[in-house]
Amino acid sequence: MTHEQEPKAETPQDFHLAGVPDEFQRLWTPHRMVYIQQGEPETEDCPFCRAPSMADEDSLIVARGRHAFVICNLFPYNSGHLLVCPYRHISTYDLATPEEVAEIGELTQIAMRVVRSVSGNHGFNLGMNQGAVAGAGISAHLHQHIVPRWAQDANFLPIIAKTKALPQLLGEVRETLAEAWPKPEHTENEHHD
Ligand SMILES: [Zn+2]
Repeated sequence: MTHEQEPKAETPQDFHLAGVPDEFQRLWTPHRMVYIQQGEPETEDCPFCRAPSMADEDSLIVARGRHAFVICNLFPYNSGHLLVCPYRHISTYDLATPEEVAEIGELTQIAMRVVRSVSGNHGFNLGMNQGAVAGAGISAHLHQHIVPRWAQDANFLPIIAKTKALPQLLGEVRETLAEAWPKPEHTENEHHD
């Protein structure tokens, strides 16, 4: 890491930016601007509503619960960046039912363990942006971010460290995490051959 020059807060604009500069800021990608520029998707066009109707491989869903599901972020800040979403199209956390709150929490805990076991990351950023003004790309549908962090933020899971096209990378990330996800004691919809 190089610090040739400490950035100085000289311009007035700098003072509009709340928070303490850290490594996380460097992980932000301009891809998210697509959402901001194109505006909010309609409910029927909501990617988080649409995803559960698709195959896991196509939607990048890692795990499905009763009230919520875990999905790879299409625009990851870091490799292994997951989102936990309720199935219901609700915008803010306070609209979630106790059952949804409980399962979002439960899936978040499992996701942390799975990501840690697979990628050996050192920490996480967890959080929910509430509203577009707070930075939510798709603010109409609640989603909890789970962003694995490494001390040096070596961005790739060791197993997929080979250079590949991004969609392929995400597909492999999904597969790796889905395979490492603990299997329920008994599954209601078993489709094993
Ligand atoms: Zn939705």
